[in-house]
Amino acid sequence: MFLKGKTALVTGSTSGIGLAYAKAFAGAGAAVVINGFGDAAAIEAERAKLAEASGAGALYDAADMTKPDQIAAMVQRCHDELGGPDIVVINAGIQHVSPIEEFPIDKWDSIIAINLSSAFHVMRAAVPHMKEKKWGRIISTASAHSLVASPNKSAYVAAKHGIAGLTKTVALETATFGITVNAISPGYVWTPLVENQIPDTMKTRGLTREQVINDVLLEAQPTKEFVQPDQVAALALFLCRDEAAQITGANLTVDGGWTAE
Ligand code: NAD
Repeated sequence: MFLKGKTALVTGSTSGIGLAYAKAFAGAGAAVVINGFGDAAAIEAERAKLAEASGAGALYDAADMTKPDQIAAMVQRCHDELGGPDIVVINAGIQHVSPIEEFPIDKWDSIIAINLSSAFHVMRAAVPHMKEKKWGRIISTASAHSLVASPNKSAYVAAKHGIAGLTKTVALETATFGITVNAISPGYVWTPLVENQIPDTMKTRGLTREQVINDVLLEAQPTKEFVQPDQVAALALFLCRDEAAQITGANLTVDGGWTAE
């Protein structure tokens, strides 16, 4: 329970990798704030399980990551009701797959808002609380697409490369305040985000479901296996330890060797 007394806020944590982070932090004794969309009863069931695991409280905030005022209000609510935030994980993300000339403008705007600008708004609101305590951990879920590109993912690749730059900048600004700022860059993790892009990739590349899984997704990953959400969360948990205090400004891959090629 090494995070007892700390509060962790994870954006986009009603599903997938975000929920795995929340479970990992709660399991280590942190109070947690979860966020994201989904079925209200299912979210409440997860919140209750997290509160029980942590023993320090868990709350759900429905802030929309496209709305800066809602993001600031969520960080303030975390501070007022649970303290902190001591740990923030910027994780909410969406995807859209389309060639540049057909890429819908509203999809570009949403992906930049949710996958990139929300990180700026969360960090901007959370850093003052961390500076005050002289301790903080800021982690963003970037992607292998923060380091390399794939066709038809212009907005996603641009946003994730932006996260890598934002991470380095804020790491430098906070380095003497006991705050570390890092990105974790997974390869393909089997979550709804990956499953939901299969139909579009089938359409744009003229492939079957099996071909998309084996020849497009796992093709990129030398291990030929999907990353598991728990494996990503385990790295985030390590970044919160005192032993990780000198890891800052890093972009750490968990991608089965994808970006080594
Ligand atoms: P997911 O679809 O399972 O989860 C996304 C979460 O974001 C959900 O909780 C959803 O409700 C939330 N969300 C979406 N729009 C939101 C908004 N406007 N406001 C608040 N919350 C919102 O996806 P995932 O695969 O777990 O992805 C999580 C993060 O990991 C994303 O940033 C994604 O880009 C990144 N990532 C995923 C993979 C992968 O292969 N799954 C690989 C690399 C990086």
